[in-house]
Amino acid sequence: MVFAHDTEAALLAAVALVNSAEEPDTLVSTEDLMSFLDRHDYTGARRGSVAELDAVRELRPRVRMLLTSDRDAAAALVNDLLSEACALPQLVRHGEYDWHTHAVAPDAPVATRIAVETAMAMIDVIRADEMSRLDVCADPDCGGVVLDLSRNRSRRFCSTTCSNRAAVAAYRARHR
Ligand SMILES: [Zn+2]
Ligand SMILES: [Zn+2]
Repeated sequence: MVFAHDTEAALLAAVALVNSAEEPDTLVSTEDLMSFLDRHDYTGARRGSVAELDAVRELRPRVRMLLTSDRDAAAALVNDLLSEACALPQLVRHGEYDWHTHAVAPDAPVATRIAVETAMAMIDVIRADEMSRLDVCADPDCGGVVLDLSRNRSRRFCSTTCSNRAAVAAYRARHR
């Protein structure tokens, strides 16, 4: 494990959120948002409203900027997100999850909780000077964000779709 379990979970969720904006957009309905929250084990209040969906959709460019900025810019963005949300880190333990941090109340809006969880996770990334774990997909036609949590830092593509496409292209180039 490169980072603590809650940090890795929050980073994976943030990357999935950002990549949902790639065409075709996969976060377009309240059902999409509910399944995203389920997939990433988000606890806390949900309204299931269009306003909630819109707030999360509006958050995506900001999260993308945070994940793809250089380290100094990312630090400033983390500080902005945390102060806007009046974040107060607290250790909590719930369900099958051992002690980890929550920095906003469970009844805060979903978009606020995602923003703060991402910012808290990025604190670890920035402090460990591991921004190189985050990059844009090596496929020149893809804008997806890649989170590389592998030991040998071998991950270059955002999805198996992109890595398969690159493998096919490389094969064709060899056998021309
Ligand atoms: Zn939790
Ligand atoms: Zn990609």
